[in-house]
Amino acid sequence: MNLSVKIFLALVASVIVGLIAGPEGLPFIKWWIAPIGTIFINLIKMMIVPVVFTSLVVGMTSLGDTKTLGRIGLKTVVIYLVTTAIAILIGFVIAGIGHPGSGLQMIAEGKVDVKDAPGIMQVFVGMVPTNPVDVMAKAQILPLIVFALFVGVGIIQVGGERAQILIKFFDAAAEVCYKIIAMIMNFAPIGVFALLLPVVAANGPKVLLPLISVIACLAIGCAIHAVVVYSMLAKIGGHVSPGKFFSAMSEAMMLAFTTCSSAATLPVNMKNLQEKLGVSREVTSFVLPLGATINMDGTALYMGVCALFIANVFGVDLTAGQMMMIVFTGTLASIGTAGVPGAGLIMLAMVLQSVGLPIEGLALVAGIDRILDMFRTCLNITGDGAVAIVIDRDEKKREGLVA
Ligand code: ASP
Repeated sequence: MNLSVKIFLALVASVIVGLIAGPEGLPFIKWWIAPIGTIFINLIKMMIVPVVFTSLVVGMTSLGDTKTLGRIGLKTVVIYLVTTAIAILIGFVIAGIGHPGSGLQMIAEGKVDVKDAPGIMQVFVGMVPTNPVDVMAKAQILPLIVFALFVGVGIIQVGGERAQILIKFFDAAAEVCYKIIAMIMNFAPIGVFALLLPVVAANGPKVLLPLISVIACLAIGCAIHAVVVYSMLAKIGGHVSPGKFFSAMSEAMMLAFTTCSSAATLPVNMKNLQEKLGVSREVTSFVLPLGATINMDGTALYMGVCALFIANVFGVDLTAGQMMMIVFTGTLASIGTAGVPGAGLIMLAMVLQSVGLPIEGLALVAGIDRILDMFRTCLNITGDGAVAIVIDRDEKKREGLVA
């Protein structure tokens, strides 16, 4: 049986057992079962720093040699980042309207100490690490990201064979992190069961509605982002009608929806954009692999929705400043998310950590994460396609091939 089915069954089992046990069963559950959930959460926390650091370095180095890629690279990255930030904002708006999670209450281990958003200059000062080791030890996400970006750029600047050694090293290290995460995730059905059981026992059946509302918020947010933002990009930037765009993308979108992997969808996306929309080989072979690595609008939108959902569940009111912080860390987290199933869930831990939201909230999301992954991956690869069309048109204009 595959893992996501097991995790989903664990969620179902926790609901059934929790409803049977009810509040009377709580003392036993809290004493014997809940600590298993804490162990699971600690295992995930253990991986946040290593996975953020290695995968962001890899994400940066995948930009390659900045000189040759210069123009296209900069344009592509700017559009990627802007659309990603818009995606998180859409996630906030939809979750702000839909209020997923209200009506359900979870209590965090220890006090929920949501960090106040500092003033804008303070953010910049706080972003620069004075001691990377200290930053890692304290799992301070923002300066850690900045350090990782510097390391990535440094490696690109060194270039040549010596850089290749490091690129291979970080690539392998990121791979090791993902393997460890995969091991931890094997434990997820038990962890999720142990985390959710006390919640269901304490709250009763009203625990189900919030989960359905998270799925609905994400699905609606993805649809809006695709129809509004990507249609506009394709039409205005690429002179391709939305109908033509989505029909050319449909096969890759279906594949992404079912495999939950941008990386696995990449070959089909490249082929279809070349064959169905005439995008040049140069553009598809640069913009799409880069997009499958760093451009994850669906994942970003999911971070926005889930952060608000978890804040609701834990009764935390996020300020505008904290939301900006989530947009910022969420954009960077989506860059570091690998194009494989379930990667976004781990990065969500980092976003929660950046504003001090309780990571225990992940348990709720984990139970339905496969369904959420289908929507977000579908949006992820559609965004890559839209940007490829815009860059292709721009390049052809530059070469005088189109008016
Ligand atoms: N599964 C997503 C993708 O491949 C990444 C994620 O988990 O958000 O694009």
